[in-house]
Amino acid sequence: MSVINIENAKTNIGQVGFLDVEIDPTMDLFHEIERLKKEKNAIVLAHYYQEPDIQDVADYIGDSLGLAQQAEKTTADMIVFAGVHFMAETAKILNPTKKVVLPDLKAGCSLADSAPADLFRAFKEKHPDHVVISYINCTADIKALSDIICTSSNAQKIIESLPADQKIIFAPDKNLGAWLIKQTGRDMLLWNGACMVHEIFSLEKITRLKIRHPEAKLIAHPECEDPLLRIADFIGSTTQLLKYTQQDDARSYIVATETGILHQMQKSSPDKTFIPAPPDNSCACNDCPYMKLNTLEKLYLCMEYEVPEILMDESLRLAAKKPIDRMLEISRAAGLI
Ligand code: SF4
Repeated sequence: MSVINIENAKTNIGQVGFLDVEIDPTMDLFHEIERLKKEKNAIVLAHYYQEPDIQDVADYIGDSLGLAQQAEKTTADMIVFAGVHFMAETAKILNPTKKVVLPDLKAGCSLADSAPADLFRAFKEKHPDHVVISYINCTADIKALSDIICTSSNAQKIIESLPADQKIIFAPDKNLGAWLIKQTGRDMLLWNGACMVHEIFSLEKITRLKIRHPEAKLIAHPECEDPLLRIADFIGSTTQLLKYTQQDDARSYIVATETGILHQMQKSSPDKTFIPAPPDNSCACNDCPYMKLNTLEKLYLCMEYEVPEILMDESLRLAAKKPIDRMLEISRAAGLI
């Protein structure tokens, strides 16, 4: 690989999202990634929705809350974030002295995109007496406009920590918000955003699957739509779903969330059967197209060349950090972390 090629590829990152250079196909990427971790004192943090190979090289695999905690406390010099852009941003917000790299800058999120900052600011200004609770799946700009951040694991406790008469805006996920209204009995004002992956499940196909597998339990993420959640046997964050399958007695599960989590479910319960809930299209399972932009090759390249890197204006970082700190504080007080 020539130096000129690398320099050209670096200048193209803004356009293509990653370092677009060829890798020797005989290279043992697993070995090389381990070598780079040691050489550069780097840690690989991977979300449960990453492809199995990436999960297998990660030092830590988790959902948004776990990943944020790991990013906050790591002493590594470089955080290699195998997830989507807003998650890598969160790592940078929490641990600004570390270099944070992401395999593909275009690994975005339909949910984060559904809340443009200028529209959200105008919405918030119309409701000045409301506290803004935002799900962590949002951009740094939206975090900076929020009072408290939450994840699906701690959202209920965070809402319940506020006085009963406190008016609340919940953003950006309307499905998670609607589910939380049911759980807490709080009448929150919801921003109209959604995750394309969790909204696309086919109720009809899932019903047919349940008839074919009457012994299987349906477990679902609260980002799914209400009709699906109504027929679910268990609803929880990605980590809660994983724990449930480890502790529950059933032998098989229909899993209504991104399919990447099935890798950890199958690894920790090899004798159980996990069936991905089918989406309303011709596919049999439901992958997040953003999460799956990251590959082992891109992961290796971002570690080797330390690009693409997450950089952030310091005033934005500080404004976005405040509501995350509030989340971590409330989660600690509630014994969640
Ligand atoms: S699964 Fe949904 S919420 Fe998660 S990164 Fe993909 S689009 Fe965003």
